[in-house]
Amino acid sequence: MSKQVYHFGGSATSDEPRAKDKTIVGGKGANLAEMAGIGLPVPPGFTITTEECVRYLAEGGEFAAELQADVAAALAHIEQAVGKRFGDAADPLLVSVRSGARVSMPGMMDTVLNLGLNDATVEGLASVSGDARFAWDSYRRFIQMYADVVLGLDHHKFEDALEIVKEDNGFYADVDLDAEHWRQLVGEYKTIVAEELGRPFPQDVHEQLWGAIRAVFDSWDSDRAKVYRRLNDIPGDWGTAVNVQAMVFGNMGDTSATGVAFTRDPATGERAYYGEWLVNAQGEDVVAGIRTPQYLTRTAREAAGAKPLSMEEAMPEAYAELARVFDLLERHYRDMQDIEFTVERGKLWMLQTRSGKRTARAALRMAVEMVEEGLIDRKAAILRVDPMALDQLLHPTLDPEAPREVLGSGLPASPGAASGAIVLDADTAERRAALGEAVVLVRVETSPEDIHGMHAARGILTARGGMTSHAAVVARGMGRPCVSGASSISIDMQARTLRIGARQLAEGDVITLDGATGQIMAGEVPTIEPELVGDFGTLIAWADAERRMKVRANAETPADCHTARQFGAEGVGLCRTEHMFFDAGRISAVRQMILAEDIAGRAKALAKLLPEQRADFRAIFEVMSGLPVTIRLLDPPLHEFLPHGDAEFAELSETIGIGAETLKRRADELHEFNPMLGHRGCRLGITFPEIYAMQARAIFEAACDVAESSGAAPVPEVMIPLVATRKELSILKALIDKTAAEVFADKGRTLEYLVGTMIELPRAALMAGEIAEDAAFFSFGTNDLTQTTLGVSRDDAARFLGPYVEQGIYPRDPFVSLDIEGVGQLVQMGADRGRATRAAIKLGICGEHGGDPASIAFCEKVGLDYVSASPFRVPIARLAAAQAALSASSR
Ligand code: PEP
Ligand code: MG
Repeated sequence: MSKQVYHFGGSATSDEPRAKDKTIVGGKGANLAEMAGIGLPVPPGFTITTEECVRYLAEGGEFAAELQADVAAALAHIEQAVGKRFGDAADPLLVSVRSGARVSMPGMMDTVLNLGLNDATVEGLASVSGDARFAWDSYRRFIQMYADVVLGLDHHKFEDALEIVKEDNGFYADVDLDAEHWRQLVGEYKTIVAEELGRPFPQDVHEQLWGAIRAVFDSWDSDRAKVYRRLNDIPGDWGTAVNVQAMVFGNMGDTSATGVAFTRDPATGERAYYGEWLVNAQGEDVVAGIRTPQYLTRTAREAAGAKPLSMEEAMPEAYAELARVFDLLERHYRDMQDIEFTVERGKLWMLQTRSGKRTARAALRMAVEMVEEGLIDRKAAILRVDPMALDQLLHPTLDPEAPREVLGSGLPASPGAASGAIVLDADTAERRAALGEAVVLVRVETSPEDIHGMHAARGILTARGGMTSHAAVVARGMGRPCVSGASSISIDMQARTLRIGARQLAEGDVITLDGATGQIMAGEVPTIEPELVGDFGTLIAWADAERRMKVRANAETPADCHTARQFGAEGVGLCRTEHMFFDAGRISAVRQMILAEDIAGRAKALAKLLPEQRADFRAIFEVMSGLPVTIRLLDPPLHEFLPHGDAEFAELSETIGIGAETLKRRADELHEFNPMLGHRGCRLGITFPEIYAMQARAIFEAACDVAESSGAAPVPEVMIPLVATRKELSILKALIDKTAAEVFADKGRTLEYLVGTMIELPRAALMAGEIAEDAAFFSFGTNDLTQTTLGVSRDDAARFLGPYVEQGIYPRDPFVSLDIEGVGQLVQMGADRGRATRAAIKLGICGEHGGDPASIAFCEKVGLDYVSASPFRVPIARLAAAQAALSASSR
């Protein structure tokens, strides 16, 4: 069996590949081993693998028999490296216990510091350090964290006890308390634990350690971890590793400190060290937002007009060492690093490094600049930017010209503009957002329990916390605009009101946040559309040079087509004509067409629709001039267009002169039990050929008109939906060809056009070889293909797919990311059989999956000619297609 416990630091960092493999020892463990390996100052420790966590959870919370001995040996390794013994009353070794999954899950998993303190060892720590205040402060921190994380007690009781000590003594800050106060508080904390738990706080250090290991493993299955995994597509069966590491102390007086830092600015990407630190503090103080941290560099402090000295000024030697480590780590990992460090009595220690989370803007700037600096090449730059993150830049930002009433400001924690109604808790945010309201979540500070509300909100505003607070880190990861640490706001949860500076607001009032400047504004401020310029333009141009597949857009209005073109679409892959039928000016003609009792009645209505459709297509051809446009003929079940309620029937009856009762009877006749499998798609064309004939006529007449007026003839690609058999396609193709011939004869010109089909039924994929006899192209309609292959209704799936994804039945929502194993086989088969019949057949995808990077990678493997995505996803698809091509060529 493989080893399940790995050492790092001291003199014993393991050379085994597993010791630095994130999947085995988690991201934190792998990077600690890596840093120790390149000679950086890392306190010695050990990691218990993710495999052990998975096994522990599968065994219903039982540790494996061997683990006891392995942990004892690993602990002995730390003891030997540090020269202290765990539980030694005279000079105790203390450890931290932290989780570390394969990918970082900020705020999700739990950390315990100062483990190993008890009533005896605290005295030893006091005398060895010569600092009783430090020892008792560490002990009370330990009890509080352990009680919260391991024993599951409410942390408010402990906070209240601390507040009372402060009030009784007239103190303002924690640093005002001395050793005696902390000792007194430890007594009170122990009483709280005994009362709440019914037994005393554990004094046995080994019991403490195993309790903490158990808590880390258990936290993998906590509700908040599950929510985070669901939002971030992290599989439930990865598990987390446990890192146990010798403590170093940032709270040993004024020559000690702790901090977090980024080697470049994670919000803008600027090449400048960026971070926060606190003198005489422990790690959690910086991220928890309890004290407002200080700036790392003098430049940053001066830019913010802040008084408290930066680390660069207050601890120049430790800072110089830190800067040296930053550069070393960036060169080693060739990426921006997010670092945790502690200075213990002047000596720098590294507690963590990882590739830093960043905004999309920062990701682009860093990727482009690192190429310019020679740190990485263009291909690495393309592969480094998460295509989905670009979404943040493809949405509007505040119009700089628009008037704004600034109420106050905080830190620019996560960029972007957000307007919405103020909500003061996460549940309210979720509830009101579900009703379609735009909301801004305002909290004193956020915690992992707020994740669902942060996700539901357009933006997040907090009164406390720095740039690395929970709110800031999570908001950046989610792409939500966030302003944190806005100290001029105060929240009254009782009255459900909010004061910003001098202005009193209530829950429900609208505010606007500018996450790029930190401004908070009254009301809704207008926004402007984004453009693909600067670093974005540079990177996407590099990506285009590597891409094989074309990228088209799903668009049905001239405005959508215009957006798509601006974002670089190389054609329209799907123009859904039914959306045009809902237009207020023509819905009654559509209804007249549907409800007509005979061909003559239908012909009258179609004659009204023809010029409207022709105008639609002309506008689209004009915008897409020179590019291919795939137009799909009518697809949905007809009853979707019918009137609702008596008033609408009466109005229609008035307009078309047929009695309301007759109309209702006809509508009843159209009722279907299973409309998605009913009278829709090409079945409409087979039963009502005059509808498809009208649409084809509109397409060809518009194409001839545009060819006439602009001199550039469009190449329409006429697409038949929901084909299952070759015969359906042959009949409808003949109808389209006949219509084309008539129009060309009328107009006195001939244009090139294609007739093809969607592949969106399993039978179509199976019979693709035959169908290709009549199809110039296939477009995989993977929305319907997923629905029909899985036998899962695409309109109802949301109600039950959640637990499916949580339990790993499908790794991701199969309507969002293609079920490659299953549906993917049909796509592969359709493509292979189509090409076997017609080597040059054009192949594309136009289901929602055409904008999903993982699905796009699959399309590259199958060798499709293009993917088609919604207009705002076109740049995402361009980058994802380039990444797919690069990964395919390196295979
Ligand atoms: C599809 O089924 O994948 C498709 C693109 O068509 P629609 O979503 O309009 O059914
Ligand atoms: Mg479809």
